[in-house]
Amino acid sequence: MPSPPDDCLFCSIARDGSYVHKAKGFVAINDINPRAPVHVLVLPEQHVDTFREIGRFDAKQTKRMLEFVAETAEKVGLTDYRVLVNVGPGGGQTVFHLHWHILGGGEARDDVPAAVATAEAEA
Ligand code: AMP
Ligand code: ZN
Repeated sequence: MPSPPDDCLFCSIARDGSYVHKAKGFVAINDINPRAPVHVLVLPEQHVDTFREIGRFDAKQTKRMLEFVAETAEKVGLTDYRVLVNVGPGGGQTVFHLHWHILGGGEARDDVPAAVATAEAEA
């Protein structure tokens, strides 16, 4: 298994951050630049660069990760929300440690989040 980069922001947050929810192997934090009234990020403690490498997690961990996303949404008071993963720079990814965006607390919109729109504009 490749070792994570020494300077990974989300590895250090997963070790020492301030969490809205935590369970074995996973943490959830508030996004520093929220693009919805509630905007939370779910991070696995294990470093994986992108969703493309989801297969590095075994079936039990993957199921647990998805359950943890749902639990986090419930914990922050959401029943209706969006779950989003940006994959690669062209998909709007800016932090290369797998994370799941949970966006909610406002009216659902059909447009894509700002990070994706920016990446498309720059392409
Ligand atoms: P993505 O663009 O999908 O890679 O998402 C990265 C997200 O991380 C963005 O929504 C950023 O606002 C958020 N972010 C960056 N730095 C921090 C930080 N120190 N704490 C919390 N969220 C952050
Ligand atoms: Zn990392």
